[in-house]
Amino acid sequence: MSLGTVRHDWTYEEVKALFEMPFNDLLFKAASIHRETFNPNEVQISTLLSIKTGACPEDCKYCPQSGHYKTDLERERLMEVDKVVEQARLAKTKGATRFCMGAAWSDPKDRDMPYIEKMVREVKALGLETCMTLGMLSEDKANTLATAGLDYYNHNLDTSPEYYQQIITTRTYQDRLDTLEHVRGAGMKVCSGGIVGMGEQAADRFGLLMNLANLPKQPESVPINMLVKVKGTPLENVEDLDHFEFVRTIAVARIMMPKSYVRLSAGRTQMNEQMQSMCFFAGANSIFYGDKLLTTENPEADADMLLLKKLGMRPETREDYSDEAYEASLSSAIADKQTSELFYEA
Ligand code: SF4
Repeated sequence: MSLGTVRHDWTYEEVKALFEMPFNDLLFKAASIHRETFNPNEVQISTLLSIKTGACPEDCKYCPQSGHYKTDLERERLMEVDKVVEQARLAKTKGATRFCMGAAWSDPKDRDMPYIEKMVREVKALGLETCMTLGMLSEDKANTLATAGLDYYNHNLDTSPEYYQQIITTRTYQDRLDTLEHVRGAGMKVCSGGIVGMGEQAADRFGLLMNLANLPKQPESVPINMLVKVKGTPLENVEDLDHFEFVRTIAVARIMMPKSYVRLSAGRTQMNEQMQSMCFFAGANSIFYGDKLLTTENPEADADMLLLKKLGMRPETREDYSDEAYEASLSSAIADKQTSELFYEA
């Protein structure tokens, strides 16, 4: 009998009960469900590139890219298409199967669309899956991106509807749900998750996962981020989240969204190898690879490869990505520590 069923009617009480299970029981349940759909020794690898950095009109309190806060971040204009494609090519040689491009916009403007469409087409032509995160999307723009060949669109719910107001005031929870609906309507896959460790209550973590799992169709990718506290942002001094609570969040996400990729996302630099391994056991099966995640640090690409090797894990393969290519990427990652800096220029 299958343990993991995709359900869209999770109640608050049920989610709370999962979070309150004894730790070992929770991890065992999550790991058992994980194995029904996925190879537990494989991890999907995505590379993220910031194609336009900083000066964002939104006021997300966790974000160094918001124009509302004074951080050390240098603003950058939209990157040229050729440069983006060059980075995508490099990411592919390092083992990435999906290339995510992020822009610090409230939403993409009409004038940006021809460049964005070209990027999608050219990155896709390399044989990579494409993903973008550009802010809110209208129905029309979602359709345009889908026509250009965009596979995934990332738009996070961030937190529970109740805590959301404390974190962002320039767009509503409903705006986010509308964007996800437009992405779905256009036939693209959805990447949507949230951030924990923002000073929220446990109830907000329950609420976040409940809202993600109860979407009409669960997101194919669910990034779970641990807040990276950046100096100059309103959350720079927020209290740390207990690491076990983070692992529990991963495990509950895995149980509630058994067919989704659960991505161990921002905040991995604060986690040691043991903690990351526990997250993999709890059902995380996707990571970002490269030395920066949009604008915050990410463990060096080669360190990731070495960790996977220690754990007997490997990057998930796609049809066009053979064992030989993995071996080559592993040796090159180990041998060439210089190149990881190229992953992320933003
Ligand atoms: S999270 Fe995105 S929308 Fe919010 S301020 Fe940062 S770049 Fe802008």
